[in-house]
Amino acid sequence: MPKNKEKDSHIFAPGEPDFASKRKNRSRYLLLKTKPRRILIYGIKYLITPDEKDDVVVMENKSILVENGEIKKVLPLGDHKQIDLNKIDLIYDATKRGGLVVTPGFINAHSHPPMYILRSSMALAGEEGTIAQALETAIKLERQMTEEDLFYSSVADFSEEQKMGTTTTLSHYHTPSATSNAADFCHQRLIDAVSIASSTDPKASPEEAEKYIKSFKRKSFSSREMIRPALCIHYVYRASEDTLKKAKALMEKYNVLLTMHLSESEMDIQETIKRFGARPVEVLDKFGLLSKNLVLSHAVHLTPQEIDLLAKRKVGIVHLPTSNLIHKSGRLDYSNFFRSGLHKNMALGTDSVISKSRLDLITEALQARTMHQHSQVIYYKDLFKMITSNAAQILGLKKLGKIVPGYRADLSFWKLRDRGFIPYDSKDPSTLITNFITFGGRNIRDLMIDGQFVISNRVHNFVDESSLLDKIQDLHTNLRKKI
Ligand SMILES: [Zn+2]
Repeated sequence: MPKNKEKDSHIFAPGEPDFASKRKNRSRYLLLKTKPRRILIYGIKYLITPDEKDDVVVMENKSILVENGEIKKVLPLGDHKQIDLNKIDLIYDATKRGGLVVTPGFINAHSHPPMYILRSSMALAGEEGTIAQALETAIKLERQMTEEDLFYSSVADFSEEQKMGTTTTLSHYHTPSATSNAADFCHQRLIDAVSIASSTDPKASPEEAEKYIKSFKRKSFSSREMIRPALCIHYVYRASEDTLKKAKALMEKYNVLLTMHLSESEMDIQETIKRFGARPVEVLDKFGLLSKNLVLSHAVHLTPQEIDLLAKRKVGIVHLPTSNLIHKSGRLDYSNFFRSGLHKNMALGTDSVISKSRLDLITEALQARTMHQHSQVIYYKDLFKMITSNAAQILGLKKLGKIVPGYRADLSFWKLRDRGFIPYDSKDPSTLITNFITFGGRNIRDLMIDGQFVISNRVHNFVDESSLLDKIQDLHTNLRKKI
């Protein structure tokens, strides 16, 4: 554990938020017990979610009953007879001041949280510098980062994602303990994919990854369900044949996902051909790695035949349009993904702050929409699924991504009286989804993860944001001195 909780306790609020004091004057919260386990979210004007059949629906005037982190009931407003109000610990009144829109917490299927203090690295080479020069500087800085840098970077990353409605993150990196400790601290749900073949960390190997997966059982996270391990490979050409064989064995032994950057650029394909004598998809197929437990990010330079093969094997795809534009990687062939049906297995990701400075998924959805509109338009409801139910499906998160009884209570609360929603067509409230995406990302009002309010009235309950930003600025300044 890096120095944090004890030494810097003034920076962060300790563990469980103090509901009584934090919410005393906040009128949406009617707190009846100090550690609320049964929560009634009363009178939601609009609830937007993929339903049981995975159709995105907009429901009007609903209440949600949450019990021990699970969505127990979704009820029409006024139909609360089935609820014994004496047994409710907290009532959240969603009817006040223009009402609210509630969505599932979003799922970011590809990111690198420990890189947060490298924000805006594209400017590191100056306005006239090339992307390659900027990245070269960023990598030099990254190699100098300490455990402390990695931990606070991840805290800053997760808490920013949370402010924009994201409740689950897949982290692709090679320093697992900093990332998982940070997620535990912020109460963020995490898939912690630890590298078995990395460009930055020469120690990354299947053996080290296995040690990490085993150590998971001994960790004292506040919620075991919230953080799970996975494996990652930087690019196929970084791995040896032996590493690919071991990857498959580890996936089967521990039932974990494998994720990697794939066919992001022509360079990545040429390097794979040099090492293996075949293109990346063919190499993965040869080693038996194409399955529903594989998640490929970027997937830009693929032939229609490769896309068909990935569809047949039900592989998960993460589209990162902003990153692809910034790095001039090319344009994912969405038309062929749509034709093959693999668009249903497609999620979105932010990548790191080197590739997209603002860590929200709504601007990413808008970017995806505009990137492909000349060839195969992506429907707004499909974009919404990419950041909710599609992402949950490809990441094997069975009870996430929907507001349906039996699912975990990961909920984002958005103010309806906001330029991101208004004006909408009250006769066709699906126009709220269109407005939401075309307006781009913005901050949420409240956020619940696993039945616990992580953000209330726009304030984080676990992280003191002002102190965190000062800390991040100090760490960044120190890091720059090292090169
Ligand atoms: Zn990436």
